[in-house]
Amino acid sequence: MIKLDPAVINRVTKPARYTGNELNSVKKDHASVKVTVALALPDVYEVGMSNLGLKILYQILNDRTDTAAERVYAPWVDMEAEMRAHHIPLHTLETFTPVKDFDMIGFSLQYEMIYSNVLNMLDLAGIPLMTAERDERHPFVIGGGPCAYNAEPVADFFDLLVIGEGEEVIEDVVAVLASWKEDGKPDGRSGFLKRAAKIEGVYVPSFYDVSYQADGTIAAVTPNCSEAKPAIIKRVVKDLNDVKFATKPVVPYLDIVHDRIMLELFRGCTRGCRFCQAGVLYRPVRERTPEKLFDIAEQLVQNTGYNEISLTSLSSADYSHLREIVRGLGERFNDKGVSVSLPSLRIDSFSIELAQEVQQVRKSGLTFAPEAGTQRLRDVINKGVTEQDLEQAVGAAFRQGWSSVKLYFMIGLPTETDEDVLGIADLAYRVLNLYKEIKGRRGAKVTVSVSSFVPKAHTAFQWYGQNSTEEIERKQQLLKSRLRDRSISFNYHDSRTSFLEGVFSRGDRRLGKVLLEAWRGGAKFDGWSEYFKYGVWMEAFEKCGIDPHFYANRERNEAEILPWQHISSGVDKSFLVSEYQQAIQECYTPDCRRSTCSACGVCPGLGVEVLDWGMQA
Ligand code: SF4
Repeated sequence: MIKLDPAVINRVTKPARYTGNELNSVKKDHASVKVTVALALPDVYEVGMSNLGLKILYQILNDRTDTAAERVYAPWVDMEAEMRAHHIPLHTLETFTPVKDFDMIGFSLQYEMIYSNVLNMLDLAGIPLMTAERDERHPFVIGGGPCAYNAEPVADFFDLLVIGEGEEVIEDVVAVLASWKEDGKPDGRSGFLKRAAKIEGVYVPSFYDVSYQADGTIAAVTPNCSEAKPAIIKRVVKDLNDVKFATKPVVPYLDIVHDRIMLELFRGCTRGCRFCQAGVLYRPVRERTPEKLFDIAEQLVQNTGYNEISLTSLSSADYSHLREIVRGLGERFNDKGVSVSLPSLRIDSFSIELAQEVQQVRKSGLTFAPEAGTQRLRDVINKGVTEQDLEQAVGAAFRQGWSSVKLYFMIGLPTETDEDVLGIADLAYRVLNLYKEIKGRRGAKVTVSVSSFVPKAHTAFQWYGQNSTEEIERKQQLLKSRLRDRSISFNYHDSRTSFLEGVFSRGDRRLGKVLLEAWRGGAKFDGWSEYFKYGVWMEAFEKCGIDPHFYANRERNEAEILPWQHISSGVDKSFLVSEYQQAIQECYTPDCRRSTCSACGVCPGLGVEVLDWGMQA
């Protein structure tokens, strides 16, 4: 057990990040359990503590009498400096046990820009970075989350990855680990990995060899042992009513990003936006029943003392019994001072009505995501909303007293022209004018937030060549020159961060050495603009003789073997190819839960179905 010197804690910012002992944290005697797991999120405490997936896994694992699960996050740079200066190894918040003494460390991989933090945390823990360098004394390093669907750039550092939803598979992995230990650890590390590889949804990267063609594309991905399956298929929970939810989450002492109850209404989204990776990875839609949700909410309010319930799902406004849930939660908790918030809104007036209901007093800004500036481009990405929808929704909001609106867009989408980019400005002015028409005076505030499109693995746009940083910057300036009204604020992302994200999101194993090199050069907290060192990354690419444009900006041929082809989201490749063609032809594919099945392959392939309680009623 590590004892932190109070002097160290006094010298760092936000010491409560490191002190542990929060309400609902679970401390177990490691001698009384069979398996110990350190659950890690490679970002700072406030971000890590806001991750719902890890809260769920923490509860599932700690509900097992044979397992102890503890938390660990990336120490902020000041704390890291203290730890390195005083030889304090990375340790967990529950029992202050060094992470290297656990059986397993599980990283949640939410976003490519945290890969350098994974290496930094392993190094701080004293765990060899490469799987090949670890032996009996070291924990197994496992990963999960959306990036696991193409974890090839980090394949050298992970012993195994879990593909898909973790609730059931994590228990399978722990059970196999416990029995391998009980059996006396036969065949060492590879003995466990071979047993684990037989579990559905488990991917052991070292069990696959990758060969390349002369032009740098992949020639083949070949299993190198009999336990390795030719394809790893994602795990999916059939009915969310049957699995555990985080009803007793750890409550922090300091403000975190999502400092409220997170109530997950359903999983998945079948609207089919063609840029959206989550829309593919979490298919199909599976709703929890209203009764189940009320029961979970009761427990959460009681166990945490929070006074806000946030309805979190990919698109919460699509929940089939939304009004019933919003009203029901209000009836149950309003007199206890607990409010309900809806983080994502559909672009329609029903959503405004609901927003009105939940925001009785406070009229904070409303956020809408038209994603693209013209109807043509919204058809390309299958957004399924029209300018009229937006006008109606924003108009309804203005009539009901809102005056500030935030609009989210992307630039760099397939087939985009300058006209589409300028369409973003037109839409912003349209919103301003609408306020004037309705209220008879100026006074609206519009925030235009523009991110740069990054094509992601497993989506219809996975073959598309991402815009270069120069092209993105030109488009940003074009838009900036058009948005010259004091009532409009314009935010956009650093094009270089999006470029790097693009390299890693569709990268292959050869990028492992670039990552290592960049980390050695000081790369960490790359998702934090003040720490992002683009120069270090470019030097690392050069040193390793790897061209990042090969990964980010190259249009792929549909016949090319993609680095993630042996990982299956359950969606057929033929569906993605046809969606890409539909995009070019500006054709709309309807939402399969409310219209006809568009034959993506998930339901029949995984033996699962859309669960929409509104449709069943
Ligand atoms: S198989 Fe059909 S119903 Fe199921 S998610 Fe795919 S498109 Fe929707």
